[in-house]
Amino acid sequence: MAATSEPTTRDELTAKYRAERDKRLRTDGNEQYVEPTGRYAHFLDDPWAELPEREPLHDEVTVAFIGGGFAGLVTGAKLVQAGIDDVRIIEKGGDVGGTWYWNRYPGAQCDTAAMIYLPLLEETGHMPSEKYTHGPEIYEHTRRIAETFGLYDNALLGTEVTSLEWEDDTKRWVIRTNRGDEMRAKFVAMGTGPLHRPKLPGIPGIESFGGHAFHTSRWDYAYTGGDPEGGLMTGLADKRVGIIGTGATAVQCVPHLARAAGELFVFQRTPSSIDIRNNHEIDPDWFSTLEPGWQRQWLENFMILQTGGFADEDLVKDGWTDISQRIRDRVLADPDATMDPASWLKAYEDSDDEKMAEIRARVDEIISDPDTAEALKPWYRQLCKRPCFHDEYLQSYNRPNAHLIDTDGKGVERIDETGVWANGEHYELDCLIYASGFEVGTEYSRRSGYDTVGRNGLTLSEKWADGMLSFHGMHVHGFPNLFVVSPSQAANLISNVPHNLVEAGETIAHILGHAIEVGADEVEVTQEAEDRWVDLLEKHGRRFGNNQECTPGYYNNEGQSPGRRGLLNSAGYPAGPVAFFQYIDQWRTSGEFEGLEFR
Ligand code: NDP
Repeated sequence: MAATSEPTTRDELTAKYRAERDKRLRTDGNEQYVEPTGRYAHFLDDPWAELPEREPLHDEVTVAFIGGGFAGLVTGAKLVQAGIDDVRIIEKGGDVGGTWYWNRYPGAQCDTAAMIYLPLLEETGHMPSEKYTHGPEIYEHTRRIAETFGLYDNALLGTEVTSLEWEDDTKRWVIRTNRGDEMRAKFVAMGTGPLHRPKLPGIPGIESFGGHAFHTSRWDYAYTGGDPEGGLMTGLADKRVGIIGTGATAVQCVPHLARAAGELFVFQRTPSSIDIRNNHEIDPDWFSTLEPGWQRQWLENFMILQTGGFADEDLVKDGWTDISQRIRDRVLADPDATMDPASWLKAYEDSDDEKMAEIRARVDEIISDPDTAEALKPWYRQLCKRPCFHDEYLQSYNRPNAHLIDTDGKGVERIDETGVWANGEHYELDCLIYASGFEVGTEYSRRSGYDTVGRNGLTLSEKWADGMLSFHGMHVHGFPNLFVVSPSQAANLISNVPHNLVEAGETIAHILGHAIEVGADEVEVTQEAEDRWVDLLEKHGRRFGNNQECTPGYYNNEGQSPGRRGLLNSAGYPAGPVAFFQYIDQWRTSGEFEGLEFR
């Protein structure tokens, strides 16, 4: 097959995008995915830690933080900086680190530049080794934060919260765990992460596979050989290895698999967009010239440029700011353009057309086989799916042992004892790797593994049955002294999630500082303030994802209407992240904390 030429008009391109989307739309939406059970139940276990027995705890702390990822670590650090050091992180993994604890697949790396992605670099004195750091260094950094701020001292690792209940008599939260603990905390914050519960494709016969299998977030190095640093996986040299999924995770581990496996079969339903990575080491001489306060400046510069604002220079210069800069340059270059939404939309569409054409041309440049090249071209707007950046992924398919099994949007047909069926053909496999992602959009309580029972027995799952209801994404009426830490219903800065968390930590530190100062037993948002916030977001919220024109994926609820629930869960402050951070800084430093009651 010869390479398809690029559509020459916007209409042709739109028609092509729609046709590719339509062939992927399915009535079961999110329901196509299943929980790991039966032969896959161990996919939820912790392969990285032997957890020692310990006596259950029956004590009390000032602050308990559920989740030991960046949310818990930066909040803990901010609290310690504010003089509140009786903080206990409770984490189900055997160590802190969150996603970087679990995801140790070869090649794991963050797409957001380390200078802004790694929080508290100045406070911990760490210089990232590369522009885009790899997983092991990020995991080390999470440990560094815990050590620097003494957060290990009081942490409960390898401990899963099973219930969280407000006790009105004592004005304390009661936390029970799978280790038999029954602790009390005056304040509880929750940062349980949006993408951490592995999911599997509900492919017929999935249970019957008799070979070796694992999910990317529980990489089985005992079987593959190699290590998270990228050591050659010698255990795969004589193996036929299959991998299902071609999202951001697969893009990073496929080059390592292609190097190591006897034969590699990559089962693709939708190709990712693969832009240039262009990684490089960070020069210590240059790093030493940065003035104190540089990280805040970098965070703000990135956020401003990434959300359509203007700045004299682009400090981060990455794929995210490139997208925004192209749009801005077009608006500025067009003499007829006004600064109205229509001009921005036109500039966005033109820039995106240009960018996606470049990404498809890059496939042709790199891939020697024209059929493979055609199958690897993404036909959707770049932000329809998680944009990927890699300089070795596409190249992997030029290896004779690496086979792209494109299914033209249909996915794997079925699995049997010896392998995988796709396009009517059977592929015999020794090992099958699921790069099938994580639960998104399921109930908060299901993903976190416990429900939260507030005042008068009201549960958070009841309260949020029809979507998240909060004030600032953090406070929930009926749930005093509880703080939710996530980007939703707040800044919603998706391109650099830790920035949201650092700000949330700062906010919590201010609120608790004030509560302690005035001797309040309870801090709670009023119903009125919560209603006003929800109303604002429902009417004018800036939404991430949910574009029904897009090819299906977790960004748009697998192509199905998000309903009120999905819209509420994905809403951010109407004026965007820059304005939200200004607003929240003013709100927390004014000393008024308008909307909260301190009793
Ligand atoms: P994703 O949910 O993004 O990808 C799942 C993959 O499985 C998709 O390619 C999907 O295809 C495919 N799939 C599902 N069912 C089938 C089937 N029946 N047959 C064939 N293929 C199937 O998971 P990831 O783990 O890749 O990424 C999750 C998120 O984690 C990312 O979006 C990103 O936010 C984050 N991440 C960030 C990284 C970074 O910063 N570098 C690195 C890795 C992850 P389809 O596209 O058609 O649905």
